[in-house]
Amino acid sequence: MTDALMSTYARLPVTMVRGEGARVWDSDGRAYLDALAGIAVCALGHAHPAVAEAVADQARTLVHVSNNYRIEAQERLGERLTQLAGHERAFFCNSGAEANEAALKIARRYGHEQGIDEPAVIVCERAFHGRTLATLSATGNRKIQAGFEPLVQGFVRVPFGDIDAVERVAANRRNVVAVLVEPIQGEGGVRTAPDGYLAGLREVCDRNGWLLMCDEIQTGVGRTGRWFAQQHENIVADVTTVAKALGNGVPIGACIARGPAAEILVPGSHGSTFGGNPLACRAGLAVLDTIEADGLVERAATLGERMRAGFRASLGEVEGVREIRGQGLMIGIELERDCGALVRRALDAGLLINVTAGSTLRLLPPLVLSDDQADAIVEGVSELARTFLTESAGS
Ligand SMILES: *Cc1c(COP(=O)(O)O)cnc(C)c1O
Repeated sequence: MTDALMSTYARLPVTMVRGEGARVWDSDGRAYLDALAGIAVCALGHAHPAVAEAVADQARTLVHVSNNYRIEAQERLGERLTQLAGHERAFFCNSGAEANEAALKIARRYGHEQGIDEPAVIVCERAFHGRTLATLSATGNRKIQAGFEPLVQGFVRVPFGDIDAVERVAANRRNVVAVLVEPIQGEGGVRTAPDGYLAGLREVCDRNGWLLMCDEIQTGVGRTGRWFAQQHENIVADVTTVAKALGNGVPIGACIARGPAAEILVPGSHGSTFGGNPLACRAGLAVLDTIEADGLVERAATLGERMRAGFRASLGEVEGVREIRGQGLMIGIELERDCGALVRRALDAGLLINVTAGSTLRLLPPLVLSDDQADAIVEGVSELARTFLTESAGS
């Protein structure tokens, strides 16, 4: 292993060299079933022909041009994406954190336009919003913030899923301008909110003149069985941030908005050199077209149900399993003890999985999974979890 890279990741000693659908191969030719999809990125699986074709065609034509000019693919993607989300306008960038930065800048300007000099945004405990200074400040995890102080000011933190806590902030503070929330907390442990939480937030935001900003970077683009997770509660946010699956691995993020929030960024107030370039937008268009044409949103809902039912049958009664939860193909299995060791064991068993928040097995497989592949993941992960729990129970 080289010393030429900063040690930002504790990497597993394996090099992936090729992929196809839900499978990847390492440099020794060993195959793995991918239940992580590059952390919810490769929703169409690996080496999808529609994305490969769009990217190759655009690379031969025009990879990049400045946002000082009109970009046809960006205009088309902006229309498609805002339409699917019931929003009106899009700003394109290159990552999730950048999409949230745009959302936070919108919220602050929205406040300043109303004469609020120190606008504050409500964020949740255990939230994850990214690694830039503003987004790590919005994140509800001390480990991610430690050593990077001073944090960006202007956040008020409340427990996730608790509407009363938000009402108390409304009663006590005059400078709140927005709520930023993940419909399902991803990094925080695949935590779902009580039914009615997002609809409740929508109502509180409307009553107080706040923007509801949904971070759908992980939940968006079909993963939970709707195009956007907010649609499970029949609400439309004022601002939604999107990234991960949007380019199936080609870096692209978007901050989309409607109503007053959509009018706030004007020439000179925000920008991105690479954001929304022809290459990334062609990938984004291929992703949305394929998800729609192949019915993958419905497929995510059906497969997610199938997998959670499978896990409930195989792990529901096992001592040491705390909860099986999630929505669509965003699946969390919380154990009663830390289980980071299972990532390596799964790899050895030919499965790519993730553990988040210490004790939650997290599965974010590609939406193109076959029934057999879904069943193989349920079987393989259940077996690993059972063995792990039996051993650690005895120790
Ligand atoms: C991954 C993620 C981010 C950060 O996205 P990057 O592309 O890594 O900057 C922000 N919010 C949520 C909910 C995420 O899952």
